[in-house]
Amino acid sequence: MNDGLKMVFELQKVDILLAHVASRLRKLDSGETLKQSAEAAAAHYDRTSAEHKRLTTDLHDAELELRSVEEKLKTFEQRLWSGTVRNPKELENLEKEVNALKRQRSRLDERVLQLMDQVEASQKAVEQARQQKEQAEQAYQQHMQAYLAEKRKLEAEGVRLKQERQKLAGQCDPQLLQRYEAIRQRHGGIGISRVEGDSCMVCHTKISTSALRAIKSGQIVQCENCSRLLYLEET
Ligand SMILES: [Zn+2]
Repeated sequence: MNDGLKMVFELQKVDILLAHVASRLRKLDSGETLKQSAEAAAAHYDRTSAEHKRLTTDLHDAELELRSVEEKLKTFEQRLWSGTVRNPKELENLEKEVNALKRQRSRLDERVLQLMDQVEASQKAVEQARQQKEQAEQAYQQHMQAYLAEKRKLEAEGVRLKQERQKLAGQCDPQLLQRYEAIRQRHGGIGISRVEGDSCMVCHTKISTSALRAIKSGQIVQCENCSRLLYLEET
C-alpha cells in the first residue's frame, strides 16, 4: 500500500468537484436573451406611446380646426341669411364662401372620426405594450435573482474547495503530486485511478500480474493503457 497515493486520490476527489463547479458556472445562463427581450419590449412600448401621443395631438388639432371652421361658417351663414347683404355679387361670394367652409367642415369631420378610431386603437396598443414590457422585465428580474443566487453559491463552493485542495496538496508528496498534475493535464483532468479486482477503474483494462504485484508492494505504477497512477484501496 502507498499512503502517498491515498492522499493524491483524496486530492483528485476535490479536483473533480472543482471541475464540476467550474463547469456549472460556465453553463449558467446569465440572462442575456431575457435582457434583450426586456429591452425590445421597452423600446416597443416607447414607440407605441410616442405614436399614441402624436395621434392624440393630431386629434386635438383637428378638433380645434373644426371648431374654428364651424364658428366661421356660423358667422358667414348669419350674414347670408340676415338680409343685410343685398348686393348680388356679394351674396354670391358669401354663398361660395359658405359652401367652401361646408366642404372643409365635412373633410375635418371625417378626419376627426378617423383620428378618434386611431387614438382608440393606439391606446389599446399602448396598454398591451405596457403589459408585455412589465412581463418581460419581471421575467428578466426573476431570472437574474435566481442566476445570481446560484452563481454566488457555486463561487462560495469553489472557494471552499480550493482551500480544501490547498490543504490536501500540502500533505501530498511533492514529487508524486507533480506526477499526478502532469498526467491529469494530459488526460482530461484525471491523473489517478482506483484499482478494483485486477482492473483500472478509469479505462477498465486488466492490469498485468506483475504490475499488480508491484502495486501491492507499494510501488508507484501507471496504467499501461491509460497512463493513470494506479491506486489500490486498503481493504
Ligand atoms: Zn487505465
